[in-house]
Amino acid sequence: MGKPKIVVLGAGYAGMMTTKRLMQKLRPEEAELVLVNKHNYHYQTTWLHEVAAGTVNQNQARMMISDVINPNRVSLIYDEVVEVKKDANRVVLKNSEITYDYLVISLGFETNTFGIKGMEKNAFSITDIESSRMIREHIEYQFAKYSTSDKKNDDDLTILVGGGGFTGIEFVGELAEKVPELCKKYDIDRSKARIINVEAAPRILPGFNEDLVAYAKKSLQDRGVEIREGAKISECKKNSFVIGEGDETEEIKAGTIVWTGGVTGNSILSKSGFEITKGKVTVEGDMRAPGEDNIFILGDCAWVMNKEEGRPFPPTAQAAMQHADTCSSNLKALLHGGPLEDFVFDDKGTVASLGEKDAMGTVFDDHLLYGTSATAMKKVIDNRYLFLLGGPKLILKKGKLRMI
Ligand code: FAD
Repeated sequence: MGKPKIVVLGAGYAGMMTTKRLMQKLRPEEAELVLVNKHNYHYQTTWLHEVAAGTVNQNQARMMISDVINPNRVSLIYDEVVEVKKDANRVVLKNSEITYDYLVISLGFETNTFGIKGMEKNAFSITDIESSRMIREHIEYQFAKYSTSDKKNDDDLTILVGGGGFTGIEFVGELAEKVPELCKKYDIDRSKARIINVEAAPRILPGFNEDLVAYAKKSLQDRGVEIREGAKISECKKNSFVIGEGDETEEIKAGTIVWTGGVTGNSILSKSGFEITKGKVTVEGDMRAPGEDNIFILGDCAWVMNKEEGRPFPPTAQAAMQHADTCSSNLKALLHGGPLEDFVFDDKGTVASLGEKDAMGTVFDDHLLYGTSATAMKKVIDNRYLFLLGGPKLILKKGKLRMI
């Protein structure tokens, strides 16, 4: 009998760390490893709002997979996953098919517009490097067009961001730094360019401590970001949001519209016949799909229950990397007939950036951090990931080295 074949789908945080850990935990004669990803590069999803605003170059936010995963040890397949045929232990790719003995599904998220009329068609979304690059280029085009046009329309300079969660707030924080730069570059009065964040809930950043939310709002508003809370978007038109319903509507016009208000698990899961709850699979404690002995589901594709609180842990890069640790240990246990372990979340806190020079969040047992200490912590978190993936060399190549 040949070596067992372990196939990892998706080279994001969960997929890259699982592959890295399997390379460390298993000798080449113990298992064949395969990593499948849409592109030949891995990108940092947590930096995409910076790529979209144009404050980080897309090449800093991505790296060639073969630079961090040894292709002599892991077969790298650059192709798109179309479907998993779990009854036949096969994965259908756009250009071929592969078989597996053990499968890890870590294909990340897709945008969820909750059926808001026109949102999918008319708004940009921050989902990967290309979609983020398009936003950056579109914003720059709007400013360039305005500066050269004879009949100027100030609405072209408005950037509307739907959703005041983590991504939306981090994005407007970056825009608050980028927009003054663009105004200077295109000789435009700063007061003409508006950045507006629209959130349906009574306050932005649900789940964050009230003091942190107040800090974030003040920091953003001081830099010219308009925050509209309790404002439900009923429609997204080509160049506007309609807020409210019936007679009580308001239209906000803009040259750039970005939706950051919701994500869901990759639709490959439902296409492949997994049982889905709100777009994701609720996994067992050991990170396997229910009823599947040889399939693990990680990262933004999985709901992992926090049994103490009776609800799932929030989907984050931090959690995705920890899923990878549990999954790789359990794969080794499966190969050797050992007992499987349950996932235990080690919450190291959450820090949200508000631009390059400001941030806020919690670390270690809910200790609150603001301003420069939070900014430095955010960069430590980013660089730590690079260290885990590729050691000090990768930090020097791709890291955020200016600490504040
Ligand atoms: P991803 O990292 O998204 O990776 C999925 C991979 O699958 C990608 O490489 C993709 O190309 C590939 N893929 C997708 N579909 C296919 C297909 N059909 N075929 C082949 N390959 C495919 N979390 C934090 O902890 N801290 C933060 O500060 C933070 N900030 C964020 C900021 C932004 C702008 C966003 C969008 C998210 C942020 N998050 C943050 C959340 C975090 O990024 C996600 O929870 C994390 O990326 C999940 O990891 P993953 O491995 O499941 O998916």
